[in-house]
Amino acid sequence: MKGIDLRSDTVTLPTEKMRQAMANAEVGDDVYGEDPTVNRLQAMAAERLGKEAGLFVASGTMGNLTAVLAHCGRGDEAIMGDCAHTFVYEGGGTAALGGVHPHTIPNQPDGTLLLEDIRHAVREDDPHFPRSRLLILENTQNKCGGLSLSRDYMLEAAAVAREYHLAIHLDGARLFNAAVDQGVPAVDLVDMVDSVTFCLSKGLCAPVGSVLCGTKDFIAEAVRIRKQLGGGMRQAGILAAAGIVALEEMVDRLAEDHAHAQVLAEGLARIEGVHLDKGSPNTNMVYIELAPALGRSAVEVAQALKELGILVGDTGPRHFRLVCHYWITDEDLPRIVEGFEQVLNPI
Ligand SMILES: *Cc1c(COP(=O)(O)O)cnc(C)c1O
Repeated sequence: MKGIDLRSDTVTLPTEKMRQAMANAEVGDDVYGEDPTVNRLQAMAAERLGKEAGLFVASGTMGNLTAVLAHCGRGDEAIMGDCAHTFVYEGGGTAALGGVHPHTIPNQPDGTLLLEDIRHAVREDDPHFPRSRLLILENTQNKCGGLSLSRDYMLEAAAVAREYHLAIHLDGARLFNAAVDQGVPAVDLVDMVDSVTFCLSKGLCAPVGSVLCGTKDFIAEAVRIRKQLGGGMRQAGILAAAGIVALEEMVDRLAEDHAHAQVLAEGLARIEGVHLDKGSPNTNMVYIELAPALGRSAVEVAQALKELGILVGDTGPRHFRLVCHYWITDEDLPRIVEGFEQVLNPI
């Protein structure tokens, strides 16, 4: 039986069309700027997001790190949410490699940062303090349940950042999920920020890569930093070719993943002892909690589901994140719900 993998949308395999495009990609040395397929992907991404230029990078983490290093110097401070991927899941790279001090403020349950918290986090010009240089936002906000932030909120947060002369970077790993969820073109969620990254390798199914977009000058600096990080790839058009298919064909269909998350959440919520997190599902993510009365740990349940060919990610002692993506089909949804039922409430 086909395996079902709900741990993340990073597990998505490339589509047949991507594999064809990769096999046939026209390539050159991208460190010389001579890979036509990379150049095409970068131009497409920049155009799509209304930015002057784009840069293909090996991962979302590399894109965020490159952006932070391009915006900030050593001893500068970047303001971000305490649930931000850049704070929690990137190995402390901005501090370790850039000497950039993370200043966290609480993410609200709706994924936003309070405007007054942003204001309050900005330092006075005083040698005691690091220099406040950058605000980092994330859309969709992964650790807050995959919530998308609205254009109105993005504009408000950006206005505060401008007031204090902060640059703004958007970690848009799942930017297109946010755009589809909000029913707006992605450009509407990024025209207020200076730089943005998005992942080709998650819901969009490409095997590798992210794109960082910004002004021409910013991207010229980012090219140097990417090289310092060892991310100057050579015939990277092989990878970029899949990214082009991702942008052309895989964006609008994200709506299916969101619909699947809804159906899955409704099915799971009907099982005794399973509770949806408040507000869940959002975009392609379902977060659930098991009632303590079931007496089952998430690790134990994940192991039992694995034996049924269903992989899920535990995110707490009784808590799971289930992520819908291209390879989770209509037919899989009842099988997942039945799997949980069988494991949790065996008759
Ligand atoms: C996945 C992700 C990234 C980047 O991850 P990589 O695995 O390095 O590609 C960045 N931010 C968010 C919110 C993510 O979910």
